[in-house]
Formats: sequence, structure tokens, C-alpha cells
Amino acid sequence: MEQRGSGRFDQYTVPTRYWHGLDDGRIQCDLCPRACKLHEGQRGVCFVRARQRDQVVLTSYGRSSGFCVDPIEKKPLNHFLPGTSVLSFGTAGCNLACRFCQNWDISKSKEIDTLASPASPESIASAAAGLGCSSVAFTYNDPVIFHEYAIDVADACRAGGLRAVAVTGGYVCPEPRAEFYAHMDAANVDLKGFTEDFYRHVCAGHLGAVLDTLVYLHDETDVWFEITNLLIPDANDSDAEIDAMTRWVVAHLGPDVPIHFTAFHPDYKMLDRPNTPAGTLRRARGIALANGVRHAYTGNVHDRNGSSTYCPACGWVVVERDWYELGEYGLTDDGRCRRCDARVPGVYDGRPGAWGRRRLPVHIDEIDGVSRP
Ligand code: SF4
Repeated sequence: MEQRGSGRFDQYTVPTRYWHGLDDGRIQCDLCPRACKLHEGQRGVCFVRARQRDQVVLTSYGRSSGFCVDPIEKKPLNHFLPGTSVLSFGTAGCNLACRFCQNWDISKSKEIDTLASPASPESIASAAAGLGCSSVAFTYNDPVIFHEYAIDVADACRAGGLRAVAVTGGYVCPEPRAEFYAHMDAANVDLKGFTEDFYRHVCAGHLGAVLDTLVYLHDETDVWFEITNLLIPDANDSDAEIDAMTRWVVAHLGPDVPIHFTAFHPDYKMLDRPNTPAGTLRRARGIALANGVRHAYTGNVHDRNGSSTYCPACGWVVVERDWYELGEYGLTDDGRCRRCDARVPGVYDGRPGAWGRRRLPVHIDEIDGVSRP
């Protein structure tokens, strides 16, 4: 197989491992359950993987759609290095086709339009360290589709003492999934609904594959993960669906996996419904708590009660939060309640960060470091 940088592909195109030839001459990509079957020159549904010279290649290695320093709570991760900043970036394309996509300008655009920033793994890690970030997040679009690039960035981060965070729909095949998560420290997995009908007709995917990823993360890895459920009026926000989902989470993942209920706004192909009312998020949180989820959050709204973390043993507010901003902090450096010493699930490393709710777009000049616009 051809090596990176050998000259036959352009500098942003690299060979991949997860594919096989079919009897009819096509090549099937085995990275995600879409199983795209490609003729020479065709691209997969994700747009960034393609068949070139009788193999499946990634065409977006080392190119990004942009960088931004965010609070880690925005990923959202509420139990992973609270208060710290994370360097977020994405590429282009996606392997799901959610009609409500809230990042469709990136996920659905063609790479030439969006992949404006060349960025080597080492330059990303060094920029993140220079900016004082504790981690780098693959976000905006699903890192599953730029598997090789994400893994190399994660390795460069770990070599520099930073953590790697995947924000993902969890739609990936078992073998690449195992390789991918061996390089990740944390993940936020979108559980977009809890019916096959919703996944099939609204996301063009299958629920079972996402549930498999959640069970895999829980049973087979040490990756810290949290779940996001974007609630859309009259689409996936019924009491029955939220009840079934949160019961499943407790039964299969246990009570300690945090769930974030977040608000939809009309976007992309779903412009026919209103913004999600804050009351819907509070209703969902109430159902989750009643079903035994210990850490259920309302997201992207001002709701101090619903976005704070409570000690699972004594009920004290251990991390007060308003949207992404931390308030009173009642955890020890290793994540124990200061009042009763119970351990609060998550990853903690000393005092909380003080990044606040700022969002700082940055430009990364490859190798030479970072410039702020
Ligand atoms: S990763 Fe892309 S090319 Fe591969 S199966 Fe999924 S959508 Fe198709």
C-alpha cells in the first residue's frame, strides 16, 4: 500500500485500511455501517473518503474547517476536567444525514469550500498547548470519517500531555471503532432519538449501531463518555421516547453516564418547527432523574438547577454551572465531594479551570504556531 507523502496522491490524501473488494468490481468501505460501495473515482456518502487507484482513501488529512477555543462544557462534557479550555476543530462531511443538522454548513459542504486551514497533527497539539488548552476536540463534524487524521492528532496531543476528545454520532463499525477509541480520552456521543424510525427517516442511519457504540464504550474501554440528546419538538421529545431511552441507559450503561438534553433550533432541512422550549429540556431531565440517571443536564439554556452537578451521595451542589460558566466548586482535586467525600464520576485533575464561557476563534498557521484573528 502506498505511503503518505509518496507523491501519487495529493498532500491531503492518504490510504486507509478498512475496505474490501467486491466480486462485482466495486470496493466497499468498512469504516461505518453505511458500507459505501464505490467505483473508481467515486466518493462515499461522507464525501471525504473516496476510491482512488483501487483503494479507499481519506482526502481530508491535514486540513481543517477552522479552530476555536471553547469551554469543555460546550462539547458538552460536564465531568471531564471542569472549567478547562479545549481547542475544537472539524473537517468537512458527515456519515449521517440528519435533517436537523445544526452544523450543516460544515457537515454537508464540499471539502473544497470549507477545508481552508492546513494543520498537521503536531501543529494542532502545539497550538493547543500554546493556548493553554487541556485537550483537543474533534467536533463540528464526525471524526469517525477522518479516522486516520483524528488518531494522529490524538497521538500528538497525548505526546504533549494533552487529552483527545471525540464528539461523535457513534456510527462506526466495530473494528475501526476499537482502533479509534484506543487513542481517545473522552467522548460525547449523540443519541439522536430512541426509535429506529427516527434514525432511519430523519438521520439516514440505524439506532442499533449507535447503541452498540455506547455499550462498547462502557464495557470495553476506559474512555470517559457522556451522551447528548437533542430534543426536537414533535419529533423525538415525547415522554414515552425519553422514558424508554433513559431506562435503556441505566440498564445498559449504569446510572453514572451523564445525559445532556439540548435545544434544537430550526436549521438545514428542518425549518418547519419551533425552537425547543426550555420546559421540554426540564421535563426530559425530570424523566431521566426519575429513571435513575444520576447526572442529567439541561443544555444550551440558562438553567442553574439543570446545568449544575450534584453529589450522588449527599445531594450537595458540587459544581455550580450556568450554561458553560462555573460558579461554586465543591470537589476535591481528585473529584470527591468536599462535604461527604463521595466520589463523583468523571475525570478530574487538580483545581478546575477558569476559562469561563468564552469562545475564541483562532487561526492556525501550519507548523509556525497560532495567530489570533
Ligand atoms: S465512512 Fe464514508 S465512505 Fe465509508 S462507509 Fe461511511 S459514509 Fe461511506
